[in-house]
Amino acid sequence: MRHVWSVPMTTRFRGITVREGVLLRGAGDGDGDQGRAGWGEWSPFLEYDAAVAEPWLRCAEEAAAGDWPEPVRTEVPVNVTVPVVDPERAHALVLRGGCRTAKVKVADPGSSLAEDQARLEAVRDALGPSGHVRIDVNGLWSLEEALAAIPVLDRAAGGLEYVEQPCASVEDLARVRRGVDVPVAADESIRRAADPYRVRDLEAADVAVLKVQPLGGVRACLRIAEDIGLPVVVSSALETSVGIAAGLALAAALPELPHACGLSTVQLLTGDLVADPLVPVDGVLRVPGTPGVPGTVVDEDALARWAAPPERVAHWEARLAEVRALRQDRRP
Ligand SMILES: [Mg+2]
Repeated sequence: MRHVWSVPMTTRFRGITVREGVLLRGAGDGDGDQGRAGWGEWSPFLEYDAAVAEPWLRCAEEAAAGDWPEPVRTEVPVNVTVPVVDPERAHALVLRGGCRTAKVKVADPGSSLAEDQARLEAVRDALGPSGHVRIDVNGLWSLEEALAAIPVLDRAAGGLEYVEQPCASVEDLARVRRGVDVPVAADESIRRAADPYRVRDLEAADVAVLKVQPLGGVRACLRIAEDIGLPVVVSSALETSVGIAAGLALAAALPELPHACGLSTVQLLTGDLVADPLVPVDGVLRVPGTPGVPGTVVDEDALARWAAPPERVAHWEARLAEVRALRQDRRP
């Protein structure tokens, strides 16, 4: 059983204004292992071909089958994300979020280093000395720009937790890491299953940002985390709460979780598919299905409200058929 949904975003993000995907329902009654199982989200971005979208489907199937590892924690701290806004708005966003960690976007082509500095000073002021401030560059700096800007922004922020994807290439990440005192996190450099190993082998990062859908699911990510031996920050791919629950299952199962995760993103969607959306309280997301926390329950009314129009349903059915055909072809 499956449902194709389409939910507009509150703001344009990653160049998209509508998020679409498929909910898969597992066999059985949908209240399997610890009440967490039953539904899986498959929402690869529209430009991805079948080969790229295939691991995303494995993640959804794993969720629908209820095949998640045992959690070792019931709560996961998350970060508030501060987009490229003026210092006053940044300050207000951080205060409103209630999170102890802020991820601040910098290096936007439309703004200056001085503006980034001012935004970081405002964020530090809102968080106080005990909060954590990380910056996300989305690979936009050259190596030289990164080496020059990071110490400046580190001072403005009163100490950075880490800098995420300062440059586009893994080689440059490794060079930045050797050139600055701030830890480096790899995000865009980790998109396919082999990528984390390359980051490890080149000693290109201190932190690995992992997303469950592109990497093939919770168990696959847990294996990667074990293999690469780096602290992991679990991040979303802008999913509904059904997809976020898979990210939380990973964050809850990791033996160590030293940093806040990037799983507080359902607010970027104008609607959700569950009765109780996964929004943080006091900077923390509770892990569905762990003791004292209800499982993720898909809301039938919401499914009806956000049902995709027929031509989009046809599009997603065709996409699903393509991925399944690819798997057939790969069989020995
Ligand atoms: Mg990032």
